[in-house]
This record gives sequence, C-alpha cells and structure tokens, in this order.
Amino acid sequence: MFNLENKTAIISGGSKGIGKAIALKLAEAGANIVVCSRKIENLENCHKEAVENGYEIDIVECNTSDKESIKKVVDFTIEKFSKIDILINNAATNPYYGPILDSEDSHWDKILDVNIKGYFNFAKICSDSMIENKSGKIINVSSIAAKTPLEGLGVYNISKAAVVMLTKVLAKEMAKDNIQVNTLAPGLIKTDFSKALWDNDEIYNKIVKTIPQGRMGEPEDIAGMALYLSSNASDFITGSLFTVDGGLTT
Ligand code: NAP
Repeated sequence: MFNLENKTAIISGGSKGIGKAIALKLAEAGANIVVCSRKIENLENCHKEAVENGYEIDIVECNTSDKESIKKVVDFTIEKFSKIDILINNAATNPYYGPILDSEDSHWDKILDVNIKGYFNFAKICSDSMIENKSGKIINVSSIAAKTPLEGLGVYNISKAAVVMLTKVLAKEMAKDNIQVNTLAPGLIKTDFSKALWDNDEIYNKIVKTIPQGRMGEPEDIAGMALYLSSNASDFITGSLFTVDGGLTT
C-alpha cells in the first residue's frame, strides 16, 4: 500500500526542512523525486544528502511565485519520467511579522503569490499529466495557523487558511479524474522557518509547555503523513485536513 515504485513526485521547497524530509521519505518508498527551490546551494546540499542515503533525486531551480519557473520544473519532470503522480505543494514564505494593520501591499503580494497562487499554479500545470493518466495525489502543506491565528503572523495565517479552501475546491473538481487533494497541517516544527521559536532556550521552554507531547516536531514527524497521503493507502480520502502537531491544537 505504501510502495511508490514507478511513481514520480515533485516537491516544491524540497531542498530543506519539511520538504526535504518528505522528499527523502518518498524516495525511500521508491518514487522518482524532483525537488525544486530557489537557491542552488540548498538544492545541492539536499542532493548530496539524498545520494549519501542511497537515493537518486533530481533538483531544479524554481521560484514558485513565477508561473514560467514552475512550468520548467514540470517540463523537466515530464521529459525525464513521462508523467507526474504526486505533487507536494510545500514552498511558502513569510516576509512580515507584526500587527496585521501595519502590513503593506508588498507583504500581501509576496505571501499570496507564493503561498496561494504558487500552490494553485503548480497544481494546474501538473494537472494535465494527472488527468491524462486518471490518477494523481496533491498534498498542500498548510499549517495549524489555518485553524488558529499565530500571533504576529496575520497575513501568513490567512494564506494558510486559504490553502485549506484551495484543497477543498480542487478535491471536488478533480475527483472525477481520480486525483486526490488533501491538506497537511504541521504544528511547530524545528526548521529554519521557525528558528526564532527554538534557538533561544527561554522562548523554547515556554513554547513546549503548550504542546501536550512536550516537544516541537522534527521535519521527519511530517514525512510519514505525506507518505500516507501520497500512497494508495489514502485512495478514498480527498478534500481532508490532516494535523500533525503533537496535540497542540487539540
Ligand atoms: P524551511 O525550512 O524554511 O524550508 C522552506 C523551503 O521552501 C526551502 O526549501 C526553500 O528553499 C523553499 N522556498 C521558499 N520560498 C520559495 C519560493 N518562492 N519558491 C520555491 N521555493 C521556495 O521551511 P519549513 O518549515 O520546512 O516550511 C515548509 C512548509 O511547512 C511551509 O509551507 C510552511 O508554511 C509549513 N509549516 C512550517 C511550520 C514550522 O513550524 N516549521 C509549521 C507549520 C507549517 P530556497 O530558499 O532555496 O528557495
């Protein structure tokens, strides 16, 4: 059920953090992996780690706020593997921290371009292959910020809530073509993105007290759910939201 041999997966923002853990987990399950992100040094580090673990993965530079850039990743993947079975929409950004009333147009534009339009465009451009094959899995990485607002992250919270609705709309429209679309909502996970929460002992100790399981998650804690949602084990599940947060939002 969890075997991904002969499947091809694209992971956006797969060069580090949660995306990298998902890429390595899907590679372990046998999938062909194409990882994309903006910075070549991050991609090369990711490639090195994959090779050290015995996996062959491909890396492609891409900024998901640019449709042409997404198209290049998809064209590369189709040329090399003929089809796309799995899309992990994971690359997200947050250039602004503070009260939402002080946020500016430029913050909204950047956040919505990457966190929402980037996810939609990736799904749309991959859909040709998935519809042709009458098979596909799209996993949109949102956040617990979609369920309960995280302080100082207003615009980001809104973008992550929009990911949940994007998932539901795509799930309903794509069901007839046997494409399942689901949301994965991580809790607080130790990555560069959340560094401000864990590289200061005082802040970290305060935060873990709010998490029933008593720790922040590791990127690998998210990878198992991504594998489940990418595999035949989840074939009758679409439009749903899966939270992985150690009980934080329970
Ligand atoms: P991370 O460690 O900072 O990794 C982000 C990845 O996205 C990197 O590979 C980065 O590589 C890439 N990226 C950023 N902007 C991009 C763009 N415009 N185009 C293409 N790639 C881009 O962050 P993370 O914590 O793993 O976050 C991954 C996902 O989990 C995000 O959707 C985030 O919202 C979500 N999440 C994280 C947490 C948490 O606590 N960490 C909690 C809830 C949800 P480059 O810099 O090379 O582009």
